[in-house]
Amino acid sequence: MLPVTTQTRTQWRNWSGNQSATTAVATPDSVDAVAQLVATAAADGTRIKPIGSGHSFTAIGVPEGIQLDMSALRGVVGVDGKRVTLRAGTRLHEIPALLAPYGLGMRNLGDIDRQTITGATSTGTHGTGLHFGGISTQIVGAKIVTGTGDVVTLTADDDELRAVALGLGALGVIVELTIECVDAFSLRAHDEPLDLDDAVGGFLDRVESFDHHEFYWFPHTRRALAKTNTRLPADATPSGPGSVRRYIDDDLISNKVYGVVCELGRRVPAVVPTLNRVASHALSERTYVAPSAEVFASIRDVRFREMEYAVELPAVAEVLNDIEKLIPRKGYRVSFPVEVRAAAADDLMLSTASGRTTGYIAVHRYHRDDPADISAFFADVEEIMVAHHGRPHWGKLHTRDAEYFRAVYPQFDDFLAVRDKYDPSRVFGNDYLRRVLGD
Ligand SMILES: Cc1cc2nc3c(=O)[nH]c(=O)nc-3n(C[C@H](O)[C@H](O)[C@H](O)COP(=O)(O)OP(=O)(O)OC[C@H]3O[C@@H](n4cnc5c(N)ncnc54)[C@H](O)[C@@H]3O)c2cc1C
Repeated sequence: MLPVTTQTRTQWRNWSGNQSATTAVATPDSVDAVAQLVATAAADGTRIKPIGSGHSFTAIGVPEGIQLDMSALRGVVGVDGKRVTLRAGTRLHEIPALLAPYGLGMRNLGDIDRQTITGATSTGTHGTGLHFGGISTQIVGAKIVTGTGDVVTLTADDDELRAVALGLGALGVIVELTIECVDAFSLRAHDEPLDLDDAVGGFLDRVESFDHHEFYWFPHTRRALAKTNTRLPADATPSGPGSVRRYIDDDLISNKVYGVVCELGRRVPAVVPTLNRVASHALSERTYVAPSAEVFASIRDVRFREMEYAVELPAVAEVLNDIEKLIPRKGYRVSFPVEVRAAAADDLMLSTASGRTTGYIAVHRYHRDDPADISAFFADVEEIMVAHHGRPHWGKLHTRDAEYFRAVYPQFDDFLAVRDKYDPSRVFGNDYLRRVLGD
């Protein structure tokens, strides 16, 4: 009898609906339970795959044997100064309330908070800000059950943490992560429509001058929405539209109205440029002050598919220019905005920002658009990204393989050496990992 709370068989599907599996599911409720499950699976030759919130677009989380639902392992294990140890299944949206009693916050976040801390960091989830790395750069310790069922504890002094902190789920089941937090802070958010030339031309200056800056370009138009956030002390007076007003605006515009617009564009692709022009002219300027986690995270209810590549920061303008020319040349109709962000260089072995100051460019398509058209569009965009030695987000769609990654990641073989040590018999393997890591 395995020491788990439940074991079932289920049909699993990711958020975007493009990955699925019928799988056995185990829900371990302790580190020992995880270790015993892995040891048993390894002895049987069964594969095991922990899953977070299923928000990856790639097949990275697809199970081939047993899926490990980590939702029974959530919450705070301990706090030491600004270092907070969390159980692996903790959702990002749960963290602000967990940190509040200590006056702490997470240094930076992406644009949603539905992911688990471990799922987010295992794929290199990032936000924006030239002086801030992705979420994995906040990790200063980890406890991981390796492919042999051993429990390994790593601190910031261990070189292997640079693999485990962004490990693609290939090294083991992370059961705890220690995050270096910062004092809680607020953000002043300034959203403004910009002409595309201004958004692109001023991008390098803005990411240098402001804590957090990104913009969304509406294809088929010359309009963009810029979002610029400035860090303020936690006790900064909240101002501007409050959280309820923002929720209504964002939910209505970003989700309800937008869902209808995307559906219309799917049925009549020829109207997409007109819809985008109308949508981009409906954008208005707003400024507000709120706690950081509220500003970073948005609601994303309209399902989409996404490809995102990291390139050297100065290449952003050229890549965007190439994508802008590609869309009319090939007659694509793209209803979703293209998102442009930046991040600091870091030293994690497989971080998309490893060793280079990075610009991120993400393209999206409505999930119900013609699949063949989505694939063709992503393939054409990928060709542009590859020409710039781009590194794809590990959780977002791409077709690259191990040979490519060896060329764009100087520490690729160092990561493989850690994998050989942690998971010699590939208990955590799946098709995606065989493609991107080579076996
Ligand atoms: C609407 C939306 C918005 C997004 N916004 C952003 C963004 O702003 N920035 C960004 O960079 N990305 C973004 N993403 C991508 C997303 O953050 C990543 O794909 C992330 O991995 C999802 O987290 P998850 O908990 O859903 O992980 P899952 O997709 O469930 O799992 C991802 C990987 O983590 C592994 N894993 C999970 N738990 C463990 C564990 N305990 N031990 C070891 N491995 C584990 C899984 O096996 C799998 O390999 C977005 C995705 C969506 C759908």
